[in-house]
Amino acid sequence: MFRRHDNCTCDVSYVSEKGRQNVHTKKWTKEPRKIEYEKPTKRMRVEAQAREAEILEQKRLTYGVRRYIIKSIDVDDYKIITGGKGISQEVNDVIINTMKKCEKDGQFVISEISDKISPSNTEGTPVLQIEPMVNGLLRLNVNTEFLSGKSLAEINEVFAGTERNLAQTLEEAIVHESGHAILIKGKTAAQIEVLYKELEPLGKTVVSNIALKDGVECLAELEILRYRKTPVSKELSDFYKKYMGREYL
Ligand SMILES: [Zn+2]
Repeated sequence: MFRRHDNCTCDVSYVSEKGRQNVHTKKWTKEPRKIEYEKPTKRMRVEAQAREAEILEQKRLTYGVRRYIIKSIDVDDYKIITGGKGISQEVNDVIINTMKKCEKDGQFVISEISDKISPSNTEGTPVLQIEPMVNGLLRLNVNTEFLSGKSLAEINEVFAGTERNLAQTLEEAIVHESGHAILIKGKTAAQIEVLYKELEPLGKTVVSNIALKDGVECLAELEILRYRKTPVSKELSDFYKKYMGREYL
């Protein structure tokens, strides 16, 4: 029930299917009240499309963040790749734990794990590789064939027996790889190419032969020495700082 105030001039009405009824006069207006919709304009269509694209992008990003983009190596991903390939638990633990420690310490993120080793121009077969992907992210390649069926001690022995490398253990081999990751993290393929060219003639004697090969390997070997907290010459620590963007020790 509506009651009209004496001096009220407002038009109190409500809309029904029958039309508009003035609650004071109870008179019905014939025409139902029109609810006006804006005619879609070209601009509105463009905006709607943009919004749709935005939603799609958001979905893609959410998916991407979960699956690829900002995600460090995790146990599940590692197991998916290496599972059922006969790698012992102790070996898996060393790989995961050391890489996680290195990621944190070196402020880089491994976004993908693969069991495909890329052809390399180094002697012998790589056990681990850090490989840049087109989008500036990093992939860790694991040579599951080599690691399969071996105990940690046996794998460590192989590293210790490889004279041209500094790494004496699987753990140190991972640290070496993390050195590669620190050097190239966040860089595009083109930037990496330029950097590698620049570093090619900059190999230095750092106890191992591969450090002599080029500056890129030298920096990765220095990463092992840093991990061991071994002091090096000022020339080497300056070299490390210049390219790795952090203090040697
Ligand atoms: Zn290397």
